[in-house]
Amino acid sequence: MSLVKINSAPMTCDHWIAGEHRGPASGQYRDVVSPYTGAAIGKVALGGKADADAVVSAAQNAFPAWRATPIKERAQLLFRFRDLVLANLEELSHVAASESGKTFGEARAEVLKGVEVTEFALALQNLDSGGIMDVSRGVSCELRREPLGVVAGIVPFNFPAMVPMWMYPIALALGNCFVLKPSEKVPLTSQIMARLSKEAGFPPGVFSLLNGTKEAVEALIDHPSIKAVGFVGSSPVALDVYTRATALGKRALCLGGAKNHLIVVPDADEALTVRGVVDSFTGCAGQRCMAASVMIAVGDVDHLIEKIRKTAAELPIGAGMGAIIDKGALDRIRHHVDAAEKDGAKVIVDGRESKAPAGREQGFWFGPTIIDHAKPSMACAREEIFGPVLAIVRVKNLAEALALESANPFGNATSVFTTNGAVARHVADNATSGMIGINIGVPVPREPFSFGGTKTSKFGHSDITGESSLDFWSNLKKVTTKWSLQSDASWLS
Ligand code: NAD
Repeated sequence: MSLVKINSAPMTCDHWIAGEHRGPASGQYRDVVSPYTGAAIGKVALGGKADADAVVSAAQNAFPAWRATPIKERAQLLFRFRDLVLANLEELSHVAASESGKTFGEARAEVLKGVEVTEFALALQNLDSGGIMDVSRGVSCELRREPLGVVAGIVPFNFPAMVPMWMYPIALALGNCFVLKPSEKVPLTSQIMARLSKEAGFPPGVFSLLNGTKEAVEALIDHPSIKAVGFVGSSPVALDVYTRATALGKRALCLGGAKNHLIVVPDADEALTVRGVVDSFTGCAGQRCMAASVMIAVGDVDHLIEKIRKTAAELPIGAGMGAIIDKGALDRIRHHVDAAEKDGAKVIVDGRESKAPAGREQGFWFGPTIIDHAKPSMACAREEIFGPVLAIVRVKNLAEALALESANPFGNATSVFTTNGAVARHVADNATSGMIGINIGVPVPREPFSFGGTKTSKFGHSDITGESSLDFWSNLKKVTTKWSLQSDASWLS
């Protein structure tokens, strides 16, 4: 297992405007801190309206030529970009891990998932040919997919490479210019992506970075030349961004938080279930929107709970499981576990006492935690904790399990562990989330299947990847043409 290298030379994360770095108009920066060490590994520009104006104006200048570039040429640049990402996989993975706290293997996997979306995007040259049909004598209707213009993506801290890559390869392939607002907690990976976009040959202004926090986000949404806003982050902010953008008549697709349920029934395969449940709630230290948060134990599954407890308790933090993003998140997670205990639940694996890995004592660490006998009314079973914490709620039957699942206001993922096909089918048919797993703890669809949840896990229509994202990042123009030597032909004939 490769250990995460923390870069010793701090990186300055400026905006990326017209293919060049540019400092913030205000001159203000904030530190970027590694969750592994608690030490600054860089500083990030704090952008405002003046910076948003500059970045969007450069993108707007680039748009006419980029729009006129044939999709096959745009795809060639994406091909080169993909190759450069793979050639720099080691560096990208170390940087993404050191700023987000995940393990090297997890960071590598997220970059590769971003590559998969890029491959989908560059294949659009062969797939997305629109359509044309003779609808009458001498009259044809043609469907053309056109770019929107300058579009924006606002992204969270937990996937510094992958979540941005859910958006920009597809948006760029379709002929838009893209402005990315990385999370201010993890802006380093995007700096490398900007450098690689230049090396790949993307014209200045086609791919840009605006760094900063809420002020930068609002300036970007409000800019009249921003035509669409893709957002991924927590549900309250997702709803704010969705409301703000759509009130201005813009299209918005805003993915929010999650509270994912794993339904475990007595006939579940032991090895598959134990691995699936533990990996799901501890992977990325529970900081992923597809992580298991509640296990619904249906009937007597005590033998599985005991194995899950043992496996989670033995997980080495630092190597097997990464760190928590910051002190605020650490306090929130601890608060949830304390409150569950106070409310009468039983903490059977306690991450509050976990020791930091040697030499990394100043980092932000929380070990795997399992809260058994949680009640559906408890905060640990209702609210997004976003840490390596699994609440186990016990129910008598599948109907109760599904009632609990559907009462959950979030709708990202729901999984069932069973060896009974009818049970699996019943859960897939009746669970309310957008992504369902059968014997899979993290049911992320592979491309070309799209990614997106329901309820408060997503505001807006279509999904963020896959075929369904094409309608979000483009307009469909319908061209009806008449060329006929038959003078009495009408468009209705
Ligand atoms: P966050 O909502 O705090 O931040 C997301 C982005 O919004 C960042 O770029 C941030 O700078 C910006 N932002 C923060 N507050 C803002 C405000 N008041 N107004 C405007 N912009 C604001 O999320 P986070 O803590 O970075 O990420 C974790 C959250 O993201 C979790 O809730 C997780 O479930 C969610 N997430 C969801 C998905 C999904 O696909 N549904 C994927 C990854 C993460």
